[in-house]
Amino acid sequence: MKKLDEKYNLAAKLIKKSAHTTLFTGAGISAESGIPPFRGDNGIWNRYNPKTLEINYFLKHPRESWKVIKEIFYTFFEQAKPNKAHQVIARMEKKGYVKAVITQNIDNLHKIAGSNVVYEFHGTTGSLTCIECSIKYNIKDVDLGKPVPLCHECKGILKPDFTFFGEAIPEPANTMSFDEAQKADVFIIIGTSGEVVPASIIPTLAKKNGAKIIEINLRPSEYTESITDIFLQGKATEVMSNLESLIF
Ligand code: NAD
Repeated sequence: MKKLDEKYNLAAKLIKKSAHTTLFTGAGISAESGIPPFRGDNGIWNRYNPKTLEINYFLKHPRESWKVIKEIFYTFFEQAKPNKAHQVIARMEKKGYVKAVITQNIDNLHKIAGSNVVYEFHGTTGSLTCIECSIKYNIKDVDLGKPVPLCHECKGILKPDFTFFGEAIPEPANTMSFDEAQKADVFIIIGTSGEVVPASIIPTLAKKNGAKIIEINLRPSEYTESITDIFLQGKATEVMSNLESLIF
């Protein structure tokens, strides 16, 4: 095995000693599953107009919004599988090294990988709700062949359960994420630029409450110079596999 930087030993020691390790993940953890981030050179917003995911636009023009929603979230998102980083996190939870995952992602990959305690801060693509009668549907029970998927009971429009621009953060994920940040003595940030509010406040709250911050990213983020104690630079899959080899 190649010799790892001393920072890995320090991070592994912190995680092993910790009574409560919480993870906070962003689009970067799913990049190696084939889901591009929204922003940046290869970002999704270079190809689509973000306005189609504003809640008021969706309510007025459901057909146009649904066309984009299907292309982005129910075509290549649906083909993505959890990668090694998601899998290591699920194993760490099973062995008691991780208490919870707070994710900004809506791709369901932490749950598919086997993590049980997952707070989806921006909701999920895995279910939909009728905007008229509030009945919830699992994505498997929805006919996406229709231009606008409709409720079987009242024929109302179905909206995916991820947070559109202009919508509130869903409960209980909102409250539980801030609670987790306060309970953590070790807080691991993976693959997020820290630019999306209010999610970006969560790691800062953890730091204020005394948590040691371990950050994993390809490049420095908003957090690296401000709150990060140990910065492990690299791909999420490689860094998490290296950490796992030192923890178990
Ligand atoms: P972001 O696009 O702002 O930042 C992504 C970060 O990940 C960057 O700092 C980048 O350097 C890092 N990164 C990229 N590839 C990486 C890799 N292989 N290993 C480690 N780090 C890597 O993403 P964000 O901060 O999560 O904010 C975007 C918002 O868009 C989120 O709130 C999220 O809801 C949403 N989003 C979700 C998905 C998804 O569900 N998979 C995908 C794109 C965007």
